[in-house]
Amino acid sequence: MGTQPIQFIDEATARSIVDEAVAFEAIERVFAGMAKGDARNFPVVREAIDYADALYGFKSGIDKSSLTLGVKAGGYWPHNADHGLTNHQSTIILFDPDTGQPTDLVSGNHLTAMRTGGACAVSIRHLARSNARTLGIVGAGHQSAFQLRAAAAQRDFERVVAWNIAPDGLDRLAAVAHELGLEFESVTRDELGQTADVIITITSCNEPLLDASQIRPGTHLACMGTDTAGKQEIDHRILTNARVFTDEPAQAATLGECQHAVAAGALTVDDITAVGGVITGDSPGRATDADITVFDGTGVGLQDLAVARRVVDLAA
Ligand code: NAD
Repeated sequence: MGTQPIQFIDEATARSIVDEAVAFEAIERVFAGMAKGDARNFPVVREAIDYADALYGFKSGIDKSSLTLGVKAGGYWPHNADHGLTNHQSTIILFDPDTGQPTDLVSGNHLTAMRTGGACAVSIRHLARSNARTLGIVGAGHQSAFQLRAAAAQRDFERVVAWNIAPDGLDRLAAVAHELGLEFESVTRDELGQTADVIITITSCNEPLLDASQIRPGTHLACMGTDTAGKQEIDHRILTNARVFTDEPAQAATLGECQHAVAAGALTVDDITAVGGVITGDSPGRATDADITVFDGTGVGLQDLAVARRVVDLAA
């Protein structure tokens, strides 16, 4: 057996191959695989490198059903934007699980945004009310437009209501909403809670932006911003009144939106359901139209590997 050539997929190629539908399918499949025990994430490494103010780390795992073994390496370089570069930088390496030889090197910047939107979309598909018509978005950063595009396909949405700490930052979301044929309105957080059937939070916030009194029965929340200890987007009392789902319960309890309810003793890891179990039919999802459902999207390495595997397969 000789040395395998390594295929390189650059950012432009990854961008041209992965659309919302491709990302959705990859994420839905890998979440189901995690629930069935076919796919496993390994412990995350994330460190300050004491250079360029950067955070750097690894997310890795194996999916035995698709024979995908790999790692996403990368992190956050806060000064990149000054040089016209994306602050979040990442690269995915796939290995042959039989031999350990590297097979593919895939640029991961676009894929990270698409797999995060994919997770949010999977949660909406499986947990939101079927008659949801108004989509609420909290946050207007880089990720927000990807979230909107991914979510839009999941229900017959007619309207987007959005809030951002700086309202003029909403222009890009408004343009994407109009491109998708959706009405758009900049609203207060109270108005957002009163009108949205589905709420996506996608901020870098460290304090609750929505409290329990602002959330109507029947709402589905996809909390996508909190992926680190200390971050928070919603009051933890929303979770205690809701059915709570996530990508990986242990991670949600430590670094996802659930961390605060767990620390307050109001939720345990056993109260958090892996959405993969809902996909496979092994766990109940939404029971009634009055349920509040929350998806705590913490982001796992297998999401990155799943979209990278699809890129490699489709490129071939
Ligand atoms: P960004 O820096 O482009 O945008 C950040 C957004 O957060 C902006 O809308 C900003 O106004 C808002 N914000 C920041 N501090 C706030 C505060 N105190 N109050 C209210 N709003 C505040 O970031 P992005 O690339 O859009 O990512 C958003 C978040 O999503 C980040 O925290 C990022 O780490 C996280 N993220 C999560 C996943 C996942 O898989 N769960 C994946 C990628 C990114």
